[in-house]
Amino acid sequence: MIELIRKLSNAHGVSGFEEELREVIKGELEGYADEIRTDSMGNLIATRNGRELELMLSAHMDEIGFVVKKIDDKGFIRIAPIGGWFSQIALGQRVVLYGRQKIYGVIGCKPPHLMKDEERKKGVEISEMFVDIGAKSKEEVLSLGVDVGTPVAIDREVAMLTNKRITGKAFDNRVGVAVAIEAFKKCKSDATIHFVATVQEEVGLKGAKTSAFALEPDVAVVIDSCVAADFPGSENAHMDIALGKGPVITVVDASGRGLIVSPLVLKWLKETAEKCKIPYQLEVAEGGTTDASAISLTKSGIPSGVVSIPARYIHSPVEVVDMNDVENAVELVARAIENARDYFKEVIK
Ligand code: ZN
Repeated sequence: MIELIRKLSNAHGVSGFEEELREVIKGELEGYADEIRTDSMGNLIATRNGRELELMLSAHMDEIGFVVKKIDDKGFIRIAPIGGWFSQIALGQRVVLYGRQKIYGVIGCKPPHLMKDEERKKGVEISEMFVDIGAKSKEEVLSLGVDVGTPVAIDREVAMLTNKRITGKAFDNRVGVAVAIEAFKKCKSDATIHFVATVQEEVGLKGAKTSAFALEPDVAVVIDSCVAADFPGSENAHMDIALGKGPVITVVDASGRGLIVSPLVLKWLKETAEKCKIPYQLEVAEGGTTDASAISLTKSGIPSGVVSIPARYIHSPVEVVDMNDVENAVELVARAIENARDYFKEVIK
């Protein structure tokens, strides 16, 4: 499982540019599905055929990143953010630009030595930062296949911490993808299961919208990551979500503007966890949402649930998760899929 997370996290797939990830995930699913296809948005869909009930098991594969916006005459590259960035985190990172081949660079800015006091206090906006790939001119940058629109991803490799905790970039949502892959492989269900690795979640739940519309499943479960509020100074976060206390079952997100999980879906996930003695946490969140919001509003409505893996420092290159939560999430999702028929008989189309 750690090796799978390592492989998925170390790969790059900024929203809208998920090709590398799609190939890695496809390789993992080979032999476990009756059909694997890519739709016109770029979603990867692997279907294992069964009878009557159709279930969608999805996780977004994209990550926040940047695209090249402008290249100056000296070869420095300005970037525009893709997805929700906290600008201070972008500074000082090593990045990969997907030119003709992978080109390495760093995100720099004026050094603090040259800043005025007020400047230092204010912090640096992404628009003031630039990527340095070592090039000496604009022509040299262009000759490497880097141009306006080239995706730029954070480059950071997975490392183990103590207590079965692990750190890396894009754990939102490569850890979720890993859980979905393992649950898809592990579950013994006679229903039809559509595994979907969605694109462009971080920029508006886009891949989920189109794939759910095409598949029109009877029920959907989305695997994502969520904010662990167990960091120092989190006393005012009004949340109890912590690492190591089990996967998180969403009740409400984005203060209800995202998803309000239906009582039946909640009963399904909670009873499965309780029956199988899997620890779990419940989440009511005021910010953030997931692909499930888009899926639940597809066509005449699709009952949708979310199982998340709690992560610290989300949307940074040093996200941290606990492998116990990851393993318990696989177990919960696999068992829930096996149980789904008992709960969703009435909604089968
Ligand atoms: Zn996510």
